[in-house]
Amino acid sequence: MRRYILILIILASIGYNAYSKPIYVRPNWILKYTGDIKLTVYTLKPTSYPIDPKICLEVEVELNNSRNTYKGCYLLKTGHRISGNLPWSVFPLIIPRYLDLNSSIEFDDGEWRSTGFEYIIFKGYGIKTIVFSRGKLYRLYDWNTGLLIKGYISFSGKYYLIELNDTNLEWIYIRYRNFYVDYRNLTIYLMEMNRSYTYVYLHSIGKSVLGNDIWALEIGPRSGRSIVVSSCIHGPEMLGIKVSIYAINRIVSNKTIIDSLKNRNIKLVFIMPLNPDGLEFSKLAPPEREYRGYVRKNARYVDLNRNFNFSWNTQRASADVNAWNYKGPSPLSEPEAVAFSSYIAGEDVIMHIDLHTGEYGVVIPPAYGGKVDKLAEYIGKKIAEMMNLPYYRGSIISAAYLQTYMIYQKGLTLAFIIELHTSDSPRWFERYNVISQSKLNDISEKFYKMIAYFADEFDWNNIKIPEEEPSYSRLAIVTLIAIILAAMIVAIYRMAKQGYRV
Ligand SMILES: [Zn+2]
Repeated sequence: MRRYILILIILASIGYNAYSKPIYVRPNWILKYTGDIKLTVYTLKPTSYPIDPKICLEVEVELNNSRNTYKGCYLLKTGHRISGNLPWSVFPLIIPRYLDLNSSIEFDDGEWRSTGFEYIIFKGYGIKTIVFSRGKLYRLYDWNTGLLIKGYISFSGKYYLIELNDTNLEWIYIRYRNFYVDYRNLTIYLMEMNRSYTYVYLHSIGKSVLGNDIWALEIGPRSGRSIVVSSCIHGPEMLGIKVSIYAINRIVSNKTIIDSLKNRNIKLVFIMPLNPDGLEFSKLAPPEREYRGYVRKNARYVDLNRNFNFSWNTQRASADVNAWNYKGPSPLSEPEAVAFSSYIAGEDVIMHIDLHTGEYGVVIPPAYGGKVDKLAEYIGKKIAEMMNLPYYRGSIISAAYLQTYMIYQKGLTLAFIIELHTSDSPRWFERYNVISQSKLNDISEKFYKMIAYFADEFDWNNIKIPEEEPSYSRLAIVTLIAIILAAMIVAIYRMAKQGYRV
């Protein structure tokens, strides 16, 4: 009896696991399915801040020369319909991603079970699909994104075989496979690091709206003062994760740095991704730059880098849910921002670097009150020099950035933004990420050396700002004035000697 109960519990939990995983859909998708029935799906923009993230869509159905349009809204966390006249209470065109064999999903017509994997070619991309079956019926879903590529769909009591024929989406994770960061693989990598080194400690600082962990990987003594590097607060900006991974790999195998961290009681903390849902949304998306807003933000369309609790209420961030810089309904309304600020509250931070892309340069913060902080300026210039980037000064109070929070709420002097890369490509991925291996290596190496310098060499106990040496132009002016003065003295002396009155 007990055994049966146990089996029941296990079965229930397997079903529950598959069921409780979210689906990832954003506005502006167009999916055209053809076959026995023609379906055209348009995903719609939000009209307000969704506390429980959802996607609303319009589906045009063409069958026997008649065309009808249906509408419906589905919760991202469950894939369940919450409103509308679409005939599916569980959305059949997109399912949770990364499902295992023998996963089950309850659709309107009953349970479908995953029975295998199949590789197919779509639009030139080799896609790994997971096959779901129910009797002789089957469906092939992209395993990495959950999108239906081909299969039987039920519609008003009948089954129709359909196939994805055209879409405005691009398989970002395949097209840019060497430069894309996959959340699942990132998690596997971080866990492996945690297992392999005694001085590496991985933990989750909190979960995203859709339940993905935000990771903190610490290298060095647990109680140490922290040098914090955070990345990917904006979904498409995964270059920050790439360079962090490169630095982590170099540092964990460098005994000098590890010993130095231990002796100086300093730890390096890599927090990533700050926006796991945005990262996941960016896997499959329209490639044009105008659509980057919906993958930049979190599942509730909030720009997390405008959601912190200092200078939240400025004009520099938008109150429009569809804006790329939407600040959310209130400061710290988003769990990702809360996770970061509560983690940081318990840390003795000596420096924070927030990695971004879309610009070039190091943003040096002004100190509290807007005064130039000499130390921040000195360190910021040092970082810029080591990264071969320009530097510029951030505005005094701009918006509720993570950096603003670190300076004004946490009282940190050394809080920097590094903008690693940009390009003028019309494709958002290429604007926010490098697509050349040599460029990636170059940026990664510079970043590693910079972090290694602060971890190993920089004297945190005795910070000295060197006196500025006079520049050449200043030297030239001083010399010129000296020559003029000397000439005048000589002239006066001569005039006096010749008897002129002065
Ligand atoms: Zn950014």
